[in-house]
Amino acid sequence: MTENLELGNLGENFAAQYIEGLGWEIFERNVSFSVGEIDIAAMNGEQLVFVEVRTRTAPSGGETVQSAEDSIGPKKLRSLELAGGCYAERHCYGGNWRIDLVTVTLTVKGKDMDFEIEHIRNIAGMGGNETENEPEFELVNDGSIEPGGVEFISEGVSNVGGITLHGIDAIRVEIEVEITGGLFSISIVGLPDISVKESRERARAALRTMGYPLKGRIAVNLAPADLPKEGALLDLPIALGMLCAQGVLPSLSPALYMGELALDGRLRRVRGVVPAAILARKLNIPLYVPHENSYEVGLVRGVCAYSVSSLQELVQVLRSRSEPNKISASFPDEDSFAEGPDFADIKGQAAARRALEIAAAGHHNILLVGSPGSGKTLLAKALNGILPPLCDEELTEVLLIRSTLGMNWNDGRRRPFRTVHFTASSVSVCGGGSSLRPGEISLAHRGVLFLDEFTEFRRDLTESLRQPIEDGKIFVSRAAGTVEYPSRVLLALAANPCACGHSGDPVYECICSAREIERYKRKLSGPMLDRIDLQISVPRLLPEELLSFGEAAESSEDIRKRVCRARTLQQNRWNKFGYNCNAELPEKIVRRNFDLSSESREFLTRMAGKLRVSGRGISRVLKVARTIADLAGDEKILPSHIAESLMYRQESTG
Ligand SMILES: [Zn+2]
Repeated sequence: MTENLELGNLGENFAAQYIEGLGWEIFERNVSFSVGEIDIAAMNGEQLVFVEVRTRTAPSGGETVQSAEDSIGPKKLRSLELAGGCYAERHCYGGNWRIDLVTVTLTVKGKDMDFEIEHIRNIAGMGGNETENEPEFELVNDGSIEPGGVEFISEGVSNVGGITLHGIDAIRVEIEVEITGGLFSISIVGLPDISVKESRERARAALRTMGYPLKGRIAVNLAPADLPKEGALLDLPIALGMLCAQGVLPSLSPALYMGELALDGRLRRVRGVVPAAILARKLNIPLYVPHENSYEVGLVRGVCAYSVSSLQELVQVLRSRSEPNKISASFPDEDSFAEGPDFADIKGQAAARRALEIAAAGHHNILLVGSPGSGKTLLAKALNGILPPLCDEELTEVLLIRSTLGMNWNDGRRRPFRTVHFTASSVSVCGGGSSLRPGEISLAHRGVLFLDEFTEFRRDLTESLRQPIEDGKIFVSRAAGTVEYPSRVLLALAANPCACGHSGDPVYECICSAREIERYKRKLSGPMLDRIDLQISVPRLLPEELLSFGEAAESSEDIRKRVCRARTLQQNRWNKFGYNCNAELPEKIVRRNFDLSSESREFLTRMAGKLRVSGRGISRVLKVARTIADLAGDEKILPSHIAESLMYRQESTG
């Protein structure tokens, strides 16, 4: 009995050697089910084959030691079929499978042993045809990075490029997929977060829909291993990696793939395509994105990008090496501006209009003080429409931040305008949170950050905004490290003139006590106000002023033209120092490089003494005067420019 068992094992080993010699991949041996047992489970290309092994010994020296049955009876066949069904079920294998019979005849010659194999294919099966379902490819490697270029066919291991986000940067992730025999399992390693782990299920469902069910032990490695990966944007490269490892797809030439898979294989919009486009441009490789992301990608210059609507479509493209849908550039025109309040529609407020024009021309932060209903918010919103249009580089920066949040951009070259309410949380303004997102200050990057009812803001919030406004960038920390977001904004603040809001109002009377007024004045000073170059009163208009049908006011477009001219002068003047506009200049440059006539110098010294302007205040007065001169097209700062600048000085901070 023991001898028979040993012979049986020996026969199976020979059978396994024979099967491997055929180029089949053996998954498992001796798998028992209650209904029966499978000797060898193997893959012949695309088809699962169960091999029933029979061992017998041939007569040695004329004597028959043992004779096994040559054929399989109907009962045994039924048991094999049931076991095969169980196996396919357990491994979620939906394809055809069959049962082969391999008979091993052992011959003992003295101390040597020889064997003969008899192989009968397809004695039973499921979906049973015997077609060898081998994938067909042409091997091409022309060294180009064109889509679908095939480098080599790897066996069971593949490598596909994807990305993950770190702040507003895309980082390349190599997705390695290895499929080996054994029980069905998928493991993803390399610091995936929960949404990446869910990719496994989405990829599996999509592949099953497409008729490429997964089987065997699948290991997905996301490299570099120490970088946390987040988001469904890795669905597509993971699915492609699985298809490559299965041999359905050839190994792919370098490219970045991103997209979230629906269970039927359609690709859904993802966030982060703009950072990915910039990375692809840097690496000089193509980028594949879901069709819904095409517009955003088209806004980035110099990127070779393709749009795909489903995994099926992409597989077809990659297999046939046909040209996918190339995304064409969709850059907005120089004067493409979205709708917004226009200065032509704003009545009166001549002083505020002028101050806003100066703010726009020199990128000066501004404080609007006025009673409720005086139109501060409307004026602040209109400020956005007179700023110079976003240049290509700035537009890319604006898109980058939105793309990491999955936000759309439909404003052409109009700058962002973000309003923050005083009830806003620190995370929503500065950025951060568990999912680490940029805050309002970064969404306002290259545009206007408007804080309405500024005096109501918590001190800690305004305090935390001070440095980012000065530096143009904000650091957001979380457990895994610190991320930097840009935050170069034009700050517009609005406040009531006093606690009751009616100080200086032509209609209502202020009811604040002297003490209340004193306390309110303190609120209107402080660290944030140090960053304000211009302060202007916005009086409430009397009903007769509101109803007057005078000359139509100047339009935002006309004002913007003057602003742009003044900006060009500043850029030409300060570029060599690394600055773009007057407001950015450090004190050092103001003192050394400002061109003041002796008359102006005298005037400023006299007025500063009289008005008790601090050293810092003088620098601010000069910067605003420089912008006023630029708007007038004057090379020198004249006393009249200084006089106007002094009008916008904040009394409370000197
Ligand atoms: Zn009052």
